[in-house]
Amino acid sequence: MSASAAEAEELSAECTVAQHPHYEGLHGECRQTKDIPLPGTTRILLQSRCGCPCHTSDKPGA
Ligand SMILES: [Zn+2]
Ligand SMILES: [Zn+2]
Repeated sequence: MSASAAEAEELSAECTVAQHPHYEGLHGECRQTKDIPLPGTTRILLQSRCGCPCHTSDKPGA
């Protein structure tokens, strides 16, 4: 194993589970599709955007 450090995106709990077979449906449950900043600041994120590929860019045939 080497490289592939760029894949280290943080996933939401839903999409983490959805990585497993038979749980793909949980991708639809994920709502962490954008950064949530702490109230009163734009520098500290309460929760960062889900890094799951299911949210990225164009879905073919959506
Ligand atoms: Zn997600
Ligand atoms: Zn997902």
